[in-house]
Amino acid sequence: MGEGAGHGMSARTAPHVEVSRPDKLLWPEPGITKRDHVDYLTAVADHMLPWLRGRPLTMVRAPDGVEGERYFQKAAPSYAPAWVHTVEIPAPSARRDVAYVVCDDLPTLRWLGNQATLEFHVGPVRRDRVDRPDLLVIDIDPPEGAFDAAVEVAMLVLEVLDDLGLTSGVKTTGGKGLHVVVPIERRVDGRQLQRAAAALTAIVAERRPDLVTDEFRKADRAGRVMLDPSRNGGAGATIVAPYSPRTRPEAPVSFPLVPEQLGSIDPSHLTVRTVPGLLDQPGPARWTQLIEERSRLPKRLLDG
Ligand code: ATP
Ligand code: MN
Repeated sequence: MGEGAGHGMSARTAPHVEVSRPDKLLWPEPGITKRDHVDYLTAVADHMLPWLRGRPLTMVRAPDGVEGERYFQKAAPSYAPAWVHTVEIPAPSARRDVAYVVCDDLPTLRWLGNQATLEFHVGPVRRDRVDRPDLLVIDIDPPEGAFDAAVEVAMLVLEVLDDLGLTSGVKTTGGKGLHVVVPIERRVDGRQLQRAAAALTAIVAERRPDLVTDEFRKADRAGRVMLDPSRNGGAGATIVAPYSPRTRPEAPVSFPLVPEQLGSIDPSHLTVRTVPGLLDQPGPARWTQLIEERSRLPKRLLDG
């Protein structure tokens, strides 16, 4: 796999990052080592970085691999090299601001991989306007083992977004379900976005109340697919980035799709092993454009 050159890194600001303890097993089941993980990140960097750049990063770290302890980490480690960018974001609960890592380039991505950051989650904001989100996310959570239901709901969500004139993309989560993402113009704050997302999920749930619920309590779901609009809002409302691996035993990856693939996709085939060979599929090309295609939220959602 390619090393630093050709990925737009600047040797002036960041060095080539070598892998320490390269043979350490991070995903023992498929035998993926730290070297494999950093190679994977290097292979997907050109596709993944556009979705990481400028955004506060939340890391899922697993220093001893997926069978060991895992934790979400928001604050940049104090020992991060000076060339790793950060952004200060006011924390609603804590007294002090949190300095998040911003993964702007390949050396940072490799450094994070070497630090056993296995999952990469991003806030829906960019550093120059952290109070103005630019991503609306519909998190489609099917009942356990019912990926077909997630697909059906994703198709419905795409239909509703189309009716509203909103441009979107769909990706697997690497977990149980799917994410539909709508890049938006930075005109509303987190609260307005959360209300708009709630109005949107209500429209979807109204069309197919037998299939979809926006009721949070599990007891009320009755086998239906959960759409939780509260995932939207401020900088802390994260989404797993496209191409991020997940800390599940099989090393699944959150992978961009095009809607036409929804009926035939098997997410268990999308892993750290397979995804570098799938970058010429239509989803990755579509998502490279999508990040530039910002919709304006319609009045119908903002007034709802
Ligand atoms: P799945 O398809 O299995 O639901 P998911 O990534 O959508 O996978 P969710 O639990 O639905 O997982 O969470 C949605 C998003 O919320 C995640 O992508 C993640 O960015 C964020 N999230 C979930 N749990 C946490 C957490 N403990 N701390 C920070 N962010 C979280
Ligand atoms: Mn989910």
